[in-house]
Order: sequence, then structure tokens, then C-alpha cells
Amino acid sequence: MKLDYDVLIVGSGIAGLNTALHLPDDMDVLVISKDYAWECNTFFAQGGVAVASNKEDIPLHVKDTLEAGAGHCDKKAVEVLCSEGPNAIQDLMNAGFDFDRDTNGNLLYTKEAAHSKNRILHAGGDATGRELHLFLMESLKFPILYNTQVVDLLIDDGKCYGVEVFHDNKIFNIYAKKIVIASGGVGSLYEFHTNSRTISADMHGICCEHGIELRDMEMMQFHPTVFVKSSAVRKQLLSEALRGEGAKIVDEDGKRFLFDYDKRGELSPRNVVSEALYEYKRETRKEIYLDVSDFKEKHFKKRFPTIYFNMQNLGFDVPSQRIPISPAFHYAIGGVKTDLNGKIKSVEDIYFVGEIASVGVHGANRLASNSLLEGLVFSKRVADELLKSFTCRAHLSFKCKSLELIKSGDKKLKNELRILMWDSAGIVRYEKKLQKSLNRVEEMLKLPTGKLIRLRLLTSRVIIKSALKRKVSLGAHYIKGERENEKVIDTTTYISK
Ligand SMILES: Cc1cc2nc3c(=O)[nH]c(=O)nc-3n(C[C@H](O)[C@H](O)[C@H](O)COP(=O)(O)OP(=O)(O)OC[C@H]3O[C@@H](n4cnc5c(N)ncnc54)[C@H](O)[C@@H]3O)c2cc1C
Repeated sequence: MKLDYDVLIVGSGIAGLNTALHLPDDMDVLVISKDYAWECNTFFAQGGVAVASNKEDIPLHVKDTLEAGAGHCDKKAVEVLCSEGPNAIQDLMNAGFDFDRDTNGNLLYTKEAAHSKNRILHAGGDATGRELHLFLMESLKFPILYNTQVVDLLIDDGKCYGVEVFHDNKIFNIYAKKIVIASGGVGSLYEFHTNSRTISADMHGICCEHGIELRDMEMMQFHPTVFVKSSAVRKQLLSEALRGEGAKIVDEDGKRFLFDYDKRGELSPRNVVSEALYEYKRETRKEIYLDVSDFKEKHFKKRFPTIYFNMQNLGFDVPSQRIPISPAFHYAIGGVKTDLNGKIKSVEDIYFVGEIASVGVHGANRLASNSLLEGLVFSKRVADELLKSFTCRAHLSFKCKSLELIKSGDKKLKNELRILMWDSAGIVRYEKKLQKSLNRVEEMLKLPTGKLIRLRLLTSRVIIKSALKRKVSLGAHYIKGERENEKVIDTTTYISK
């Protein structure tokens, strides 16, 4: 097996595959994927890709993104995202991808929360991620190594030379002149989440071990409309586009209570809706539903085929029957701090892009459907940047270090950690509870665990510490002073009343 490449791309989601699409055919490139290629968040994306619908919309898209980010975005990064977005979409369409169109052939733009205009393109109805992923996989001209998990980075004297991987029951090194990390977010750290099972924060943990800077790790986004009452690890998301197109949030008596929290009602930003659902449930103990009964069945089936079939399979006669919902972890806003080209300060020849990266476009809260666009725009910049500075250099040899990845007892710790993270670093954070969780994580880190759980623990520690450090609520980070005797929601009663 060949173990030395020009470029190594870790991750087969939109960020990794689109980086590959922009590299020349004659380059020696390998893509690594932890599981099957489609086990990534990109594949499960439903709503669409946000993009300015014309030149005049670019400043508005910037404004909406900055507002959603609660003043915490990097304005330059947002301008890059919104102004380069239309070209990134055009590149994709020139390469043969198409979005949904009306009967006259015009692109169909829909609306999602906190967008002042209809600017979300979608494909296959609510299967945008699946369609995009299929297209990018079909366009991939380089080999891909499946079931290969990166367990360490090979770094020496401020330069990255490759990765240590676990594949086919063996641990070995793969070297490259340039390494692109597009390994996604942190979903599996939380008890309830919408993410692919491969998204487990291991790369964030590896970065912690190497002193690579993570920023805004307290900024975690919770999606308000998720069907969580199933035994599946990945909970069923009910796209924001449903609310954009008329679905209502009601309690068991049919009351649309969101207007008591924000005048935008169902079209309030995700964090506002998630927090409102959390508080309303805590105060009233009432079940909360997404009511899609205003949709005609024929239209619903065509516009939201994935949701239609998944919910029918779960026994819900949608759109006539309402769906019980809860918020669940959805998106990691923070990540590895990069510049506008995916580079980091402390290590050369390595680039971070996509959900793992924090380039500054989301600030304290991501505007709906901006992340697929981020994956497209910034992966092209990473490809351009690495080509500019590409040099042939020999690699150093590294000894494999990660001998024991999993030990007995790790699974129990993993489950404990998922509950702890949901309970203390979830939708609403309380200082005392965070501190208690931090102490427990520190204890767990002292145990003789395998490496994979250690990486999860290191990432959780950063999230909790960042949440503790930010004393005032901002964007997706909602922290409350301790109220004596207030019981932080207990997940079992919260989920199934
Ligand atoms: C259910 C759902 C719906 C969404 N809907 C939308 C939407 O409509 N619009 C929008 O803009 N965004 C949406 N998002 C968010 C968006 O899908 C993601 O932010 C985006 O796809 C992330 O792309 P990525 O390439 O960075 O990572 P991913 O697509 O998650 O890919 C990560 C890749 O890294 C691999 N990997 C991870 N760790 C390792 C490791 N240690 N070693 C080797 N490989 C590794 C994984 O196997 C995977 O191949 C949604 C997310 C979810 C979960």
C-alpha cells in the first residue's frame, strides 16, 4: 500500500471532496474517510445552501450573517463567504450539478430562519446534502481509503508531515507534503444529536494534544425541531425549511407559544427557538409538536421526500399528524482557528476547512444553511493556497505512538460523557453544573483509558472551559446564574414526558 502522497485529505464531506475537486488531476492525492464515504454530516444535510440570489443580495446576506453571529463574526470572513458564494455555486453548476427549479427552469430559492430573503437553494427537495455528496463523489478523481481513522498528526518542529491512522486493525503512518483536515464537528459528544456517527470530535482532541488553537468552542448550535424519540443514535432532523414554508410549533393544546418569546415566532433564529422550547417545556411540562398539517400531502411528499418517508416509516402520518419535537445538538460553530485560507499559526503544511475550522463566518451563532456554503467557498481557497506553496520535500519518519485506542470500560465512560455534555454544556448552561462536569472530566482524564475516549474528553474539556469562561450569554451560548433549587432539565422527563 502506498504511504506517501502530495496531498492527503482527511474527510469525505463537502469540505474534503470539494478541496479534491479543485486540485489538478496529475497530483498524487489520497482522501481518507473514517467509515463509508457517505457517513458524514454533508450527506444528511436537508435544507439547502444559502447564497446571495443576485449582486444586490450580497450585502444583505452579509448583514443577516453578521446579525445571526451576534456581533462575534469576523467581518472579513463573512464578506468572503457571501461575495465568493455565488461563484462557488456557479462552479458547481458548471461542473454539472443542478438545484431544484420551477417549471420554467428558474432556480427555486426558499427561506429559513433569520434570513431576510429567500436565498436557500435546495436539491432533491430536502435531500440537498445527499445530492451534493453524490455529485462530489462522482466527480472525485483520486483514490479514497475507507474505514480509516486518523488517530494522530505527525508534527515535528512546527511542520506537519502526515497522519497516524487506524485501518484494517493496524496502526500506521501516511505521509504527505500537504495535509487538509476536513473532519467535521463534534456531534457524538452529545446524548441527543442529528450528526453522522463518524462525527466524534477526535480531531479536535488531537489538536488539543498538539497545542493547536481552538476558538469559540462554547458556541454549539442546537436545532429546535428534531424528532428524538427513536432509538437511533442520529436523531431525525426536521428541516428549518419546513418552518420557512409554513410549519408551526404548537404545544399539546395547539397553542403557538413562540410569539410569547420572540415576535418572529417560528422564524426566530435557531437558538431563540431552542431556548424557548426548553423554557416552555420546563415551565409547563407540556409536549411540543411541529404541526405540518397546512401542507398538502402531494406537495409535502415532493418538497420534503426524505422527511416524509422517514416519518411515515416511524409511524407518523405526515403531514396530517403533528410530530413531537425537542432540540438536539446540531452544529459546532467553534473549531480550529484558521485564517481565510485554512492555515493555522502554529503548524505549517496543514490546513483545516469545513465544520472543524473556525474561520470566523459564524460568530456566536450560525445562520441557517451557511455551512454547506462555507464548505464550498473555503475549500476552494484551501486548494488554491496549498497549490501556491506546494514544494516537493522529503518526509521525516515517525514512530507509531497510539498503541491502545480502546480499553474495556471506555464505552461506559463514553455514555456518561454524552449525558454529562447534554446536561451541562447543552442548550442552557449553569455555572455550577459546568464546574461539576469539568471536575468529572478531569477525573476521567486521569483514568487509564484508550486513546479515542481521551480525545473526546479533551474536546469536552475545552467546550466546558470555554462555556465557563464566557459569563454572559451570547448567540448560541446561553448561560444562567445559579438559581438555588432549580433543577436543570432532566433529559428523561424532557424527552418523553
Ligand atoms: C442532519 C443535518 C442537516 C444539516 N442541514 C444543513 C443544511 O441544510 N444546510 C447547511 O448549510 N448545513 C447543514 N448541516 C450542516 C452541514 O451539513 C455540515 O456543517 C457540513 O456538511 C460539514 O461538512 P464537512 O465536510 O466539514 O464535514 P462532514 O460532512 O461531517 O464530513 C466529515 C468527514 O470527516 C471524516 N472524519 C471525521 N473524523 C475522522 C477521523 N478521525 N479520521 C478520518 N476521517 C474522519 C468523516 O468520516 C467524514 O467523512 C446539516 C447537518 C446535519 C447533521
